[in-house]
Formats: sequence, C-alpha cells, structure tokens
Amino acid sequence: MKKGYDAVIIGGGIVGCATAFELAKRGVTDVLLLEKGFLTSGATGRCGAGIRQQWGSELNARLALESIRIFEHLEEYTGYQRSCELHQGGYLLVAYSEKEWAQFQENLKVQHSLGIDARAVDLKEAREIVPLLNTDGMYGATFCQKDGHANPFHCTQAYALGAKRMGVEIAAYTAATGFRVKDGHIAAVETSRGTVETKLVINCANTRAPGLARLVGQDIPVCSERHQALVTEPVAPLMDCMVMSFLRSYYVQQTPHGSFVMGIGPREAPSFNFQTSWQNLERCCAVICEALPALRSLRVVRHWAGQYDLSPDRNPIIDEAEQAKGFYTVCGFSGHGFMVAPRVAVLIANYLAGEEDSLDIGRFSAKRYETGELLLEPAVV
Ligand SMILES: Cc1cc2nc3c(=O)[nH]c(=O)nc-3n(C[C@H](O)[C@H](O)[C@H](O)COP(=O)(O)OP(=O)(O)OC[C@H]3O[C@@H](n4cnc5c(N)ncnc54)[C@H](O)[C@@H]3O)c2cc1C
Repeated sequence: MKKGYDAVIIGGGIVGCATAFELAKRGVTDVLLLEKGFLTSGATGRCGAGIRQQWGSELNARLALESIRIFEHLEEYTGYQRSCELHQGGYLLVAYSEKEWAQFQENLKVQHSLGIDARAVDLKEAREIVPLLNTDGMYGATFCQKDGHANPFHCTQAYALGAKRMGVEIAAYTAATGFRVKDGHIAAVETSRGTVETKLVINCANTRAPGLARLVGQDIPVCSERHQALVTEPVAPLMDCMVMSFLRSYYVQQTPHGSFVMGIGPREAPSFNFQTSWQNLERCCAVICEALPALRSLRVVRHWAGQYDLSPDRNPIIDEAEQAKGFYTVCGFSGHGFMVAPRVAVLIANYLAGEEDSLDIGRFSAKRYETGELLLEPAVV
C-alpha cells in the first residue's frame, strides 16, 4: 500500500468492485480498495444472484434493466477471460391473492413503459413454463424471459480484475478501522495495515457501512437482517426459470449445474447472526415443496446465512457525510444489490467524475427519510 490515494473504496463485494472499475474507466485509477476478508466474502458470495427487471417502481425497473444490459456482456466489458454464467431463463412471479394479482398488473404497466418484455400468464401457461408447478391457490403470474441469474463470484472477479488492470490496488484481508477528518473534509483512512491519506472515501461495506459511517458522524438508518438460503443435490434439468412469490416470500431456481437454490424471507430482528437455523430449513423446504412438490425427494447439501442491509424503504442509500465531505456511504440494498450493482456503480462513478447521468443521484440521499420522499417498492421479497 502507498502513503496516499486519490480514492479509497471500502468493501470487496460487487458494489465496491464495480465502483472501482467504473471510476478507473473514467480515469480515476489511483484507487485503493480495502476488503477485510476476501473478495465476495460478504453478502455477494452468499446471495441467490437472481436478476430481474420485474419491479413495481420505475426506478428499480430502470436500475435492473440497465444493469442487465451490462451483465449481458460483462466479460467483454471488463476484459474477463472466463464466463460470468449469466443465464436468462426468465422469472415467473406468482400471485397468491387478488390484491397481489392486481398489483402485478400495475407493475406490468411500469415495466412496459420502459420497454421491458414482461407479460401476464394464466395458470395453464404458468404450468407450461414450469411443469412442476403446483398452481393451487395462485391467481396468475407474470413472466419475463430476459430475467435470470449469474455467478456472483465471477461477476465480482470480472470487475475487480478489470479495475486492477487499469491501476486500482486491491488490498484483501485489510480492514478500514477509523478515519481522520480535517477542516470538515475526509483526510485519511486508518486500516489494519496502517494509515492512508485520501480526499475521497466510498464506503461500500454493506451491513458494516453504517458503523463505519458513524465514525465520521454520518447517520445511515440501515440495519442488518439475517437471510438464509440452501442448495440441493444436482439433478437433471427440471426447470429453466426462477419462481418467486412476494406474498409467501420465497424464491427457487435450478442452476446450470442442476442443483436447486432457494430461500424464504421471513422478517427477523436485526442481528449479525451468521448461524443457520433448523426452523428456517424446515420452513423453507415446506414452503418450496408446496409450490414444487416434485422437489420433495431432493436432498439438501448446504444451508447458509447472509445479511441484508435493510433500509427503511428497502432501497439503497447513496449519501455524503455532512461533517466529513468526500466521505460517501453506499448501502441499504435490502436484498437486491447484486442485480442493480452495475448501474449503481455507473451512477456513482459518473457523479464523482463529474460526468452527466440521466438518473438523479440525489434521489438516493438519506434525507428522503426526513422529507418523506421515500423510494417505495411494491415488488420485494
Ligand atoms: C441469502 C441472500 C440472498 C440474496 N439474493 C439476492 C438475489 O437473488 N439478487 C440480488 O440482487 N441480491 C440478492 N441478495 C443481496 C445481495 O447479496 C447484496 O445486496 C449485494 O451482494 C450487496 O453487495 P455489496 O458489495 O454492497 O456488499 P457485500 O458483498 O457484503 O460487500 C461488502 C464487503 O465489505 C467488507 N467489509 C465490511 N467491513 C469492512 C471494513 N471495515 N474494512 C474493509 N472491508 C469491509 C465485507 O467483508 C464485504 O466483503 C441476497 C442476499 C442474501 C444474504
């Protein structure tokens, strides 16, 4: 590590790595990325890696649509030699109540206004798309073929290696531990390997970001919520798309490898608990096997826990600290940060490099919780 850098990014998940890449692309290459563990050791490496454009708010639908356009050629975009394993098998979103079904019609209007190719399907067509599906209790579904999933490890590596090639230094196993502020401006980052001077810090530490922000007097209302997921043994291809329910709060997909990845999302008290629980395992299996009874005979091979960085309106916060100018916090992705990271990174880099962007970064400020201009989203798990 050098004595100083133009910028220091904290966090080696997809958000930090994509931001490093986009900044370097704009000529800001004297950048140090700090990661306290290894790249993807946080939420990114524990996520379902689902990517969908079927959102209910224009903002999220746009972020996802424009991110998918990047995911579709991420290897070429970053110069990555391996595959990021994007698979666009579609998302089937199922409605279990009349109210939810009506909301889906509203969501489709938003999606169509942006040119997203999603459509309503009746239960017969839903069963044609997913022959295993038990449609009892369902009102209908929407489907978008261009939704899908990618490999979060490869996507993050693609960004990290691309950034490195342009001059970004990546310091793994190096934690940010404190900050120095001079005359109301960030001046240095203290790390587990010494102090580095900088006038720009981008705090992408996910659930740990609010704690770091507090050290410079920035109040970020984001808490950490445990979410668990599991993977089964691999079997022959049975379904190509992700099946997801907001009301019953589940998602399930079959990976190209043949195993099924699934999770359910009950609300929990905030914690940094990384333990899995039997209750979650049993409930997840029960809920998913009701929707897809043929999965009953599969064996679970692994069950893990990760954390959502939950914001009050379940949307990201991008904010500069008032008492430490040049210190930006980017977190609060609330369970959908993987799929929007490419576009969010472009937005941040454009802003910091003084380039134009069609999105207003100010909408993501934490001030929205004071003014009431919340980023409300009806389509979250
Ligand atoms: C079970 C589960 C399923 C999910 N499914 C999906 C999905 O299907 N689709 C989707 O879009 N999103 C999903 N998500 C959410 C997604 O994983 C996150 O929104 C996204 O990965 C956030 O990326 P990030 O880079 O902000 O955070 P992270 O990947 O957590 O990266 C932050 C990094 O900061 C590091 N760090 C923390 N403190 C410090 C410090 N002091 N110094 C240095 N480094 C530090 C951490 O080690 C970590 O690696 C899921 C999450 C979970 C838990």
